[in-house]
Amino acid sequence: MDSQLDHPLVIGAGLVGSLWSTLLAQRGHEVTLVDRRPDMRAEGFRGGRSINLAMSTRGWHALRMAGLEDEVRKHALPMRGRMMHDRAGKLTAQPYGKSDEAIYSVSRGGLNLLLLNAAEATGKVNLVFDHKCNGFDKRSLEVSFTNAAGENIKTKSPAVFGADGAYSAMRSTMLRTPRFNYEQSYLDYGYKEMHIPAHADGSHRIDPEALHIWPRGQFMMIALPNPDGSFTCTLFMPYGGANGFDSLVEIADARAFFENEFADSLEHLLEFEEDWTSNPVSPLVTIRCSPWDYRQNILLIGDASHAIVPFYGQGMNSGFEDCSLLAASLDAQGSKVDWESLIAGFSESRPKDANAIADLALKNFVEMRDRVADPLFLRQKEVAAIMHKTFGDDFLPVYSQVSFSNTAYSEAQANGEVQEAILSAFAKTRPTGTPSKAELKALADQYKSLSVAS
Ligand SMILES: Cc1cc2nc3c(=O)[nH]c(=O)nc-3n(C[C@H](O)[C@H](O)[C@H](O)COP(=O)(O)OP(=O)(O)OC[C@H]3O[C@@H](n4cnc5c(N)ncnc54)[C@H](O)[C@@H]3O)c2cc1C
Repeated sequence: MDSQLDHPLVIGAGLVGSLWSTLLAQRGHEVTLVDRRPDMRAEGFRGGRSINLAMSTRGWHALRMAGLEDEVRKHALPMRGRMMHDRAGKLTAQPYGKSDEAIYSVSRGGLNLLLLNAAEATGKVNLVFDHKCNGFDKRSLEVSFTNAAGENIKTKSPAVFGADGAYSAMRSTMLRTPRFNYEQSYLDYGYKEMHIPAHADGSHRIDPEALHIWPRGQFMMIALPNPDGSFTCTLFMPYGGANGFDSLVEIADARAFFENEFADSLEHLLEFEEDWTSNPVSPLVTIRCSPWDYRQNILLIGDASHAIVPFYGQGMNSGFEDCSLLAASLDAQGSKVDWESLIAGFSESRPKDANAIADLALKNFVEMRDRVADPLFLRQKEVAAIMHKTFGDDFLPVYSQVSFSNTAYSEAQANGEVQEAILSAFAKTRPTGTPSKAELKALADQYKSLSVAS
């Protein structure tokens, strides 16, 4: 790496950094893209055991911009709704949106690999692996790296994008600058991944067109399908308490707990013991900070500036939306690129939306975990579905605004609050029965007068 680059430097070749590099290259810019890890392609990414992510409209929009949507869709599985599993193993399907609306399960490793290949295929992205970023010099703006041989390398660039994830080294330097606001909060919950293998013929053991949820108050397990017929399950549980991760150390206790709480899953979790003992318990963090830029030269994007809990399936989607919004701003500048104003503008405009989706993700955690059995909540959802069916896009549930539209997250959040207020008031006075046309019209009028129009 030269000590002075004349083009953008992107740190972190994860999902966001690779996509952003591709979008920059497609706009005619040379890019240096650096990651601390070795090249996952050279190492022979075998797919291994799948870890998957839910992709929705914002993610697809950014991939479409980069010309990658069709390729990713080939490997994506549609999940058209939630499949709730109760303690007795009874299943209840809850569609996500209209019949043609779905979120998609994609392999994290496969997607990262595809994005790295796409970046390289532009012919303009110089990929540098095995270089760990150590942050930057606050005066000179030089970014420093240590390579695999232990050598220190420094470089400067007219535009530096820190896409180095939730534990960003670039952000660590910003933490030591004046007036940098930072909040990192952990849930008392952790997560552990479990695996449902495919049948011998490669077919799925449970419905592959759904995101499966086992809601149990203090615990929750979800499962997303993989193209190879398997499912990746994620168990969310408190660390503490009698049935917390810290207590359920012995395999016999863990199995007894599953028999009690998730009995219908056990027949599919064929590698239960190995999963329980080998797979780590990982923490769930929300990170908020501002400003996202340093002296209009360095900008944090993706998890580096806004890591969120996974309960809305929007972490990657919001990071990809960072990329599509930045690309649109760059396009709006025309041929004369002004990196400083691009960085300053994004640092100013975007955090309110990142904060909104962080709040919504935390709220969804409580809803998925606790409220699915609350009659008032279920009545609200029922009336919301009727309203959506009757008024279409004029009454879009907040989940649809987040997952199936590009409405700004902060607007979706504000609209969700209005919906919640009017629907909970209605559910209290009319807890049962089909709402009349006049009642629906009154609710729609109320919503129209209070909601934020995009
Ligand atoms: C359990 C779980 C489930 C999730 N499910 C979903 C989902 O369904 N849908 C969704 O949209 N999102 C989901 N997410 C969130 C999603 O994984 C993240 O938002 C996304 O990976 C962020 O991408 P990123 O590129 O910003 O960061 P990362 O993917 O973390 O990539 C960061 C990159 O930076 C590199 N790096 C780190 N430090 C350095 C350094 N010092 N020097 C150089 N390189 C460095 C890393 O090696 C990595 O390649 C989930 C997250 C979790 C934890």
